Amino acid sequence: MTAPTPSHSARRAICDGCGARGWLEPGETRQCSECGAPYRHMALLEGFIDRWFAPLPQHVSEFYPRHLKLIELMWTAEGRGREMYEALGLDRVSYAQFLSRATPLVVRGLEEGWIQAQIPAAPSPDPAAYQIHFLDADRWAEELTEAFSANIPFDERLRPPAVEGDPDLT
Ligand SMILES: [Zn+2]
Repeated sequence: MTAPTPSHSARRAICDGCGARGWLEPGETRQCSECGAPYRHMALLEGFIDRWFAPLPQHVSEFYPRHLKLIELMWTAEGRGREMYEALGLDRVSYAQFLSRATPLVVRGLEEGWIQAQIPAAPSPDPAAYQIHFLDADRWAEELTEAFSANIPFDERLRPPAVEGDPDLT
């Protein structure tokens, strides 16, 4: 099933009968193994369409970091990220470190449905068009606290919480 690796001089080819894709070496003629029709070199636009609109999976991965960055920009907008960072009081975690752990948590919330993202179908100059909704704010607070609890040194975990009369404190 694996096709031989095409040489550098090979060009994209298409079956005239069924549209199967392949490669043709210079001067090579080939019958389609599916329908027996001859392969021909792709026309200029066909090659373009084939290359850009039927992209290989590795092209898709370029979007991942950008999508992640967009999510980060959205959930930290209007100083919200900075405020959450300060609310957690993470002395030994930089803001960048905080984001690198909190943003994937937002992504998980989006996957699991307790966070929703509102992204316009077409890019918009209006920042209000991009919204993150924390449908379950308690869940978010718990997950965030959990994500950073391992980072709090042991002696600090023993430190009494700032809030007086905490019912969890026995
Ligand atoms: Zn064919």
